[in-house]
Amino acid sequence: MDKLLDGLLSPNFEEQSCQSRYQSSAYRKPSPHKQSSYLISRLRNYEALHKRCGPNSPLYHKSISQLKSGHSMGLMECNYLVWSPFNGLGNRMLTIASAFLYALLTNRVLLLHVTNDLDDLFCEPFPDSTWVLPSDFPIKDLEKLNLGSEQTYGNYLKNKRIIRTDVKVMAESLPAYVYLHLEHDYKHLDRLFFCDNDQQVLAKVNWLLIKSDMYFVPGLFFLSQFEDELGWMFPERETIFHHLSRYLFHPTNSVWGMITRYYISYMANADEKMGIQIRTLPHIPISIEIFSDQILACSWQENLLPSINQSITQAEMNGGRTKTVLVTSLNSEYYEKMKSMYYEHRTSTGEIISFSQPSHEVKQHTEKQSHNQKALAEMFLLSYCDVLVTSGWSTFGYIAQGIAGLKPWILLSPKDQKAPDPPCRRAMSMEPCFHSPPSYDCKANKNVDLGQILRHVRHCEDVERGIKLF
Ligand code: GDP
Repeated sequence: MDKLLDGLLSPNFEEQSCQSRYQSSAYRKPSPHKQSSYLISRLRNYEALHKRCGPNSPLYHKSISQLKSGHSMGLMECNYLVWSPFNGLGNRMLTIASAFLYALLTNRVLLLHVTNDLDDLFCEPFPDSTWVLPSDFPIKDLEKLNLGSEQTYGNYLKNKRIIRTDVKVMAESLPAYVYLHLEHDYKHLDRLFFCDNDQQVLAKVNWLLIKSDMYFVPGLFFLSQFEDELGWMFPERETIFHHLSRYLFHPTNSVWGMITRYYISYMANADEKMGIQIRTLPHIPISIEIFSDQILACSWQENLLPSINQSITQAEMNGGRTKTVLVTSLNSEYYEKMKSMYYEHRTSTGEIISFSQPSHEVKQHTEKQSHNQKALAEMFLLSYCDVLVTSGWSTFGYIAQGIAGLKPWILLSPKDQKAPDPPCRRAMSMEPCFHSPPSYDCKANKNVDLGQILRHVRHCEDVERGIKLF
């Protein structure tokens, strides 16, 4: 078993400081998707850049002086991308991965504004440095930046502080930093981020701040300047989040303790492991009864779970084969219902099905660190399953499928509070969906359907307007 995932992970760490980095691979089958050697060399170069420019290095201090000067400067050795959290943990992890890829493509150093609720979740991914933004960073209240802030790219364009067609602009005439507002409520001018011209201007700004709740990687494929690099780094396009998440996200020892204790207690001995990730969203309501029936209909139709059968005799049991089903949800009702059903009845195949659920937190509490630790632990536990059923629209499920490298069966969203038919669809790829992509063709200067333009980008199974790589 290669602990360092065939060179994806740097050997320059101390094992005890982050056990998950070395032990996680033992909990799942080796990934059939090998990363390119080009990606590995880009990662090693990035790590060297991060070490040179990272917090507390002389070059970082030089860049902080530039930031305080109020304008950009042409010849800085280090340029930065500062990420701030927004929305739930799944959203956050998708945007960290997207921001990291953008940093790789633009030779920037990625720093994270780690709020208290994100403490003790992830190990440092880059050796001999930190990705945590120092607390004395001169721009305060990063989380308050929003659509209306004057520093958004869109507002700078609107107020003519930046002229997007002026690709020859001198860096000195540009602001010291620009805030990229890529949240789902973003408007046309902020969406111009996905245009080549605009990227040429943004390349001259030394500090970019970013806040998003979306996996915006598919949008980077519409930028012709990144096309070759993306192709070399990821010849298999549907593996981008798979490789990036395995590279970036290593639960800290505290979270790893939760993961391993649970895995050994409830999952390790089963012949087969299935994960069912259940998430209902306020904007698409559905009752617990109807959603439970939809989950079972999907599992039975797709032969993921055996149906229950009253008539089979005990002697027909299938050699004692066991399947364990890991249920994750904020509620316990789904788990209770399925567990009782398979406790009270025999299965048609004779298989023994057991159910477990690590937590039922009732409500989302992203502001609580211990709540986020449980969420992270459950994403990882789901990623150790052989088969996944996930809830449409949920970024929580995208994380599990991406780390696992699995194409899940996606529970489609209800319509008018009724279960859809079919209840679920197999995902075309393991990539997450970009929920609100732009719809502007920068070259043609008109609105188009970006789900129809590139060969390897399609609309998502669960979000009609969304796009994903496959
Ligand atoms: P999304 O809202 O489904 O896209 O996923 P997010 O992860 O961005 O936000 C949902 C948040 O609610 C999670 O991060 C958790 O804090 C919480 N949550 C939702 N479902 C579960 C679950 O099954 N288990 C746990 N522990 N927390 C959950």
